[in-house]
Order: sequence, then structure tokens, then C-alpha cells
Amino acid sequence: VITLTLAFLAGILIFQLLSTIPALLPTTLAAGTGMMICIFLALKYPQHKTKTLSKICGATLLGFLYVFLHAQYIDRWQLPPRLEKQNILLTGYVDSLPTKKEQHISFDFIITTLNGTPIAQRPKVHLTWYKQHSWGAPPPNSLSKSLPNILPNILAGDQWQFNARLKRPHSTLNPGSFDYEKYLWQHQIRATGNIIDDANVIAATPNQPLPDAKQTPPTRYWILRLRQQLENRINQALANRPLTPMITALVIGNQSGINKEEWQIFRDTGTSYLMAIAGLHICLAAGAVFILVRFLWRRHPYLALRLPAHEAAATFGLGAATLYSVLSGFSIPTQRALVMLIVFTSALLSRRHVNPWHTLCLALFIVLLIDPLAVLTQGLWLSFSAVILIFYVTAGRLRLAQSWWRKYSRMQWAITLGLAPITLFFFAHASLLTFVANIIAMPGVCSFVVPLSILGALCLLAHPASLLAQCGQIILLTAEKLLELIWWWLKWLAMVLPQLNWQQPVFNWWCGAFAIVGVMLLLAPRGFCSKWMGLMWIAPLIFYTPATPRHPGEFWLSVLDVGQGLATVIRTSNHVLVYDTGPKFAASDSGETIIIPFLQTAAINKIDTLIVSHSDDDHSGGVTSIRRLMQVETILASDVAHSSLTSSSPRRHGNTSNSTKITHCHYGQEWQWDGVSFKILHPLPNALVAGNDTSCVLRVTNGEHSIMLLGDIPKTQEKLMIKRATINHTHYASDSPTPSLPTSVVVAAHHGSATSSSPTFVTATQPQYVVFAAGYKNRFNFPAASVVERYRQSGATMFTTAATGALTFKFKLKKSIQSKGENQPNHIKNSAGSIGNSHGSNNHSGNNAIEILPYRIITRRYWHDS
Ligand SMILES: [Zn+2]
Repeated sequence: VITLTLAFLAGILIFQLLSTIPALLPTTLAAGTGMMICIFLALKYPQHKTKTLSKICGATLLGFLYVFLHAQYIDRWQLPPRLEKQNILLTGYVDSLPTKKEQHISFDFIITTLNGTPIAQRPKVHLTWYKQHSWGAPPPNSLSKSLPNILPNILAGDQWQFNARLKRPHSTLNPGSFDYEKYLWQHQIRATGNIIDDANVIAATPNQPLPDAKQTPPTRYWILRLRQQLENRINQALANRPLTPMITALVIGNQSGINKEEWQIFRDTGTSYLMAIAGLHICLAAGAVFILVRFLWRRHPYLALRLPAHEAAATFGLGAATLYSVLSGFSIPTQRALVMLIVFTSALLSRRHVNPWHTLCLALFIVLLIDPLAVLTQGLWLSFSAVILIFYVTAGRLRLAQSWWRKYSRMQWAITLGLAPITLFFFAHASLLTFVANIIAMPGVCSFVVPLSILGALCLLAHPASLLAQCGQIILLTAEKLLELIWWWLKWLAMVLPQLNWQQPVFNWWCGAFAIVGVMLLLAPRGFCSKWMGLMWIAPLIFYTPATPRHPGEFWLSVLDVGQGLATVIRTSNHVLVYDTGPKFAASDSGETIIIPFLQTAAINKIDTLIVSHSDDDHSGGVTSIRRLMQVETILASDVAHSSLTSSSPRRHGNTSNSTKITHCHYGQEWQWDGVSFKILHPLPNALVAGNDTSCVLRVTNGEHSIMLLGDIPKTQEKLMIKRATINHTHYASDSPTPSLPTSVVVAAHHGSATSSSPTFVTATQPQYVVFAAGYKNRFNFPAASVVERYRQSGATMFTTAATGALTFKFKLKKSIQSKGENQPNHIKNSAGSIGNSHGSNNHSGNNAIEILPYRIITRRYWHDS
């Protein structure tokens, strides 16, 4: 059974490695035929080996076919390209608990009609409703002026009609940051969009249903409605208590109210799992009911004679677990826990012995049947690994006369150590505080806060004026008070022991696999020979460092995919420069969500120079977060008085020992790092006007290759800059009169706007490669067609970050390459994803040492937008 389940899982995992979904008919036929052959072989050759092998092959093929058909089902509807970013009229149902923030509300929505036409596939989309004039809100409509500027009261299961603008699931894609497209695919969301607040917004009421083709309200929404009702009641009962969102998360599994700072504390102490309703919560809730019922049952001889107390208690425990899973929205960890509980309880009732490993496999198989894409979630791996670890350290070991305390701490230790490789892989972070934090937090939350909260919340469902509801409120308040105590403990730990946070963002598969072997050895039963060898197996994970530029003169340029905005990172062998910091988003900014994670995957923990070309939001949006999260030596900016630079935000963990030097960037500044020279070409030192005109322009060169970063500089300033740079630029002018300022890679000014990249500039630089840092379907239509055409004519190969994801250029010196003996003439690894021609890539200098890595294309999976 174990082997076959694992083979089924393997089939599902193999499918996740594909870069596109294969065609329906041939794939089904091939997989079907393969399975027939396997069955035939298993029947024909009953020898043990052949039979087992063909069974394994068959199970793998079955897993592959199953997830393939599931993918085909999700892919049944796609947003037609002609409707993308157009105003369309939608009718449908709210399909999730809405997430309410100050400026916006967002929720999943099932479309039943689109522009009046019924949609049979009923696709799910994710919609956001912004307050007018708030960040990210669509430009106001002429009809919307008369409407009040408040967010509507949207509830799960409601029917609505509104005007919206949708786009295909396309997001930014960078090393180290969250793959939103994967998340959308896993949740079967086929488009994302904004609601346009205008006269078309109508909510259905009981007496006035919408003019929908199918008016039957979906019956399956009763769970959603119940959860919604509980959420509202909890919010009322705990009005203004600080930890209300956490109680909501514990009762109905809606974590959207917990803010960033709070999550950070959970992460630092390794206790985030407490807020996600999982197997642990389910099992402990069932356990609490079990103990309570058994205690009460034994008091009553009448009952105890009819049914043994432990059997009755088990049944009630299972009932409680089922109720709790339903309340939590039936997440993957709760499914797993519930299946295991059902199997164990039925074994108990039928008085049979069950093998725990078989139960675990059965649970895995059922979870995969319900949703094969669960393999894309961290929850599946974390929860199953935790259970495997517990079985591993407890099952079949002789440990007599040990105190419960030693058993408990041993289990905690096993989980802390054993899950470290997995949390490192998913979160680039493992906290050794977990062990200490859990001593109080885990029993506190799971044995007291959770049961009290659920009990209180269920009482609240009674009529608000009744005694029961008032009792419920008191119980909930007690639970909240208890949680405050635990919270205080976690906060204190995170503050005093920040060193125990293990930031090891760098990870590769081999180190991970070795580390798992190492952990298994360390946790092996006492007396097992060479347990200490486990440490050796873990060592690669600890000492692994990612590739960096190594030789003098070598440098790497990464243009990150931050949507509509600019953020780049330049690395030499010992230094790091960040040029521009990308845009702000509604609830965060690209500094903390994209740039810092990127730097962490590259094992960078200090920025030597940060250049903020100018103070526009799409370039300076991430400055504050970057300064908060990472040490920055120097900042160069054209507008040093801008608020993002002057406001001093406290660094994490109160480390304010080093102050950042902030200076004007101006023409004439230059410096050398590891054989690479950096030069500021613009603005002039006495320039007064802030804004696009005075964007800092940076030129980096190692003598063979050069790059130019231009911010949002307009045409007039481009010309002045070229003139200035050429007069003083004797190095190139001596051997090649035209172009006057040859450049290997230009990050086009102003995201490819027609107000920049003048013919003079293009002729003067004649770039081999041009990068447009522009958002997907951005509303300015960058890059402008005229600019693309101009660069095309000059022979450049072009990329847009929306299509390539993070784009890295690695510049190596010819000398160092030849000395290593690898002198292939054209060492361009991957130039796919470019727009325009590529034949012009030999127009000047040896250019045999530029390696181009478009992240989206290299790491393409079938769920990524093409
Ligand atoms: Zn800009």
C-alpha cells in the first residue's frame, strides 16, 4: 500500500515539472495504454519482481493521468484576450470569506454571466474593490462621482452584479519571492481584477434577485455563510480587543486580519503554524472532547453499561473534529487529520489494530484524490512531515518509565529539528526559537485558547439577547485574554533572542535531501551506530553558498520584475549596488516582497550603495522597507529631501548602530569596485528641479562590457548627458568614433516611454541588449511602439520584464574566460523571450561573455502565463 501511494504521488509530482499542459487526447491515450500494459504485465507474469514493478508503473501513470485531467478541468475557461482590461459586466456569487482592509476589500467570485451571456463553465476569479481615489483604484468613471466613497458590505455567498476589469493570472516573477501565479492556479482562480464602482453595481436581495439566467442560489454555500456569520458575531463580541483577528483565524481559519508585524513575530519564533488550523488543532480539539465525554460518561452507570465510555468518547471526539474541519473551511491539513482520525476511530470501535503508516498513506491518498494540486502547497508537506516525524520518534521504541515531560520535550525537539530542512526550503528561514516558544505556546493555544474560542463562538450563534450568547461572549473574552498572555511571551522571545533565527535562504535540492538523511540519523533510536554522522549530512546545507561573481572585472546585472516600476541589482565579487527600489503596493512594497527576498537568495546581507534615481513612487517605493530590513552603507539620490529618505524608520530588532550616509548623486562621481568602474553621468551637481529630469544616470563598465541605467530621464536631458559624456570619454572615442558611447545593455529610460530614448541616444549607445522594465498590460502601454522600432533598427535584442521575469546578465572578462580555457565564441545561454531581432548581437566588442538568464523562461511551469 505504501509503495503504491508513493508511486501515485510521484506521478502527480512528475506532472508538476511540465512547462505546458500537454494536449488532451494523445496524453490520455498514451497514459491509458501504458496503464493497460502495466495491468497486463502484472497479470501475465506473477513473479514477484515483475508484478511489483508493473504495479508501481501503473500507479505512477494513474497519478499522472489523474492530475492531468484535473488540470484540464481547471483550464476549461480562459479570459479571452480581447476582454482583458476591458470594462465587462459580471454577475455571480461571492465564493470566499472576503478580506477587508482599510482601503479595499477582496474576494473570490464565481462568474455566472459575462456581459449578459451565461457562462456554463462557472469560472472563479479574484476581485478587489478599492475605495475611490485610494491606491490602486481604477481611474474614476464619469458615473461614479455621485456614489459615496465607502466600501460595500460584501458577504460570502451573496449574489452581485458589477462592472469589472479583468486580466489573466499574470504576476511578477523573481527568485526568492512568492509565486502568485502558482497560488492562483492551485486555487483554480482564472483571472484577477478590479471592480469599477459605478451605477451597474447591484446586490441581490431575497425579494429582488438579479436578472441572472440561473437563479438558483448555490446550496453549497451554507458552510461559507455559517463561517461568515461566526466571523461577524466574533467581531461584535470582541469589539476592539487587540487579538480579535487571531481568534477569528483559530475558529474559522480566516487569517486575513492578522497584520504583517504580527506574522513577523510568529515567523521569528517559528510558531506561524499555530494560526493555521491544522491537524494539531483538530486532534487536540478531538482529544479535549474525548477526555470530557469519557469523564462524564463514566459518572452515569446507565450510559456506561450501554456503551463503553471510551467508545462513546471517541465518537463524540470524531464529531467535534468533523465540525471543526467544516468551520475551518476544510483545509488540506484538516483533511489529512480528519481522515486519520476516522480510520483510527473506526479501528477502535471495531477493535482492530491498525498500522499507523498505512493510515498515513490512506490519508495522503484521499487528500490527493480530493485535490491533486495539494502537492503545490506547503501545508501538505509540512503537515505530513510532522506526522512522519512523530511516528518516527515514537513508534516501536522502548521507553519505559519516562516522565511525560521528557516525552513531550523529545517530541518537540524532533519536530523543531526535523522540520528545519522543510521550512528552510519553503520559507528560507528556520527558527531555533521554536523549541522554546512552543513549550508555552503550543499547549496554551491548542488546549485552552482553541477549545474556549470554538465553544464561545458556537454559543454566540444563539439569539444575541439570550443568556447563552452572553456566556459565549464571556468565554471568548477569556480566550482572548489567555491568547494575550501567550502573545506577550512570543513577542518577548522574538525581541530578546533574535539571534536564534536561522536565515538560510540559499537552498538547493541536494543539500535538502542530504539534510533530511542527516536529521533521520540524528533522531534515530538510541544505540543506533554512528548517529553523529547525521551532522555531516546536514553540513552541506549550512555551508552552502550560491554562485557569485568571482573574478575581478566580472559583474552581474539583475533587472527585477517589479511590475510597472524599476528595481535593479548590480553585483561584483565583493560589492552590491541596488539601483531603484520599485513601486509601492496597496499593502506592501516591492522592497520587502521582491528586492530583499532576491538579495537573500543570493546570500547578500548588506547593500554597499543604494541609488534612488528620483523620487517617483515606481522607483522609490521600496526604500523604507529596504532600509528597515537590511544594512545600507550609502544612499545616492537626486532628491535627498524626499520623505522616503528623511524618515528614519527603526531597523528590525532595534539595530540602529550604523547610520546610512545619504548624498546627492551628480555628474563626476565615480568609483571602482573589484575591477569594475561605476560612474554617474547625470544630473549636474547644481541641478535644482527634482523629478524625471534629474534622474541619476549610472554607467558601469569592466572595460569590455558596459551597462547604463537611466531612471526616467527625458529626451532633452538624454542629449545633454550624451554630449557631456562623449566629450570627456576618451577611452572609447579613440578606437571607435561611432557610436560615441557604445553600451552592451541599456535599461531603457522611463520604461520605454516615447518621451525618452531619442534617436540621438540610440545612435550614440547602439546597445546590444535593451531591457524595458514595464508592467504586464500596463495602462501607459509601455514600451512605446516607436521606441521598440528605433532600437530594433539599431540592431538591439529587446526584453520586457513582464515577459522575462527577473532578468540577469552576467558579464565576464574575456581574459579570465580564456585563462580558464573555455573560449566558445558565443556564450549566450538563453536569449529566448526577447522581442525584436537577435541577429545584431555582434555589432561591437568581443561580446562573447554575456550570459542571459530570463527567470520566467528558465523556471517555466505549466501554470505560468505564457
Ligand atoms: Zn518610472
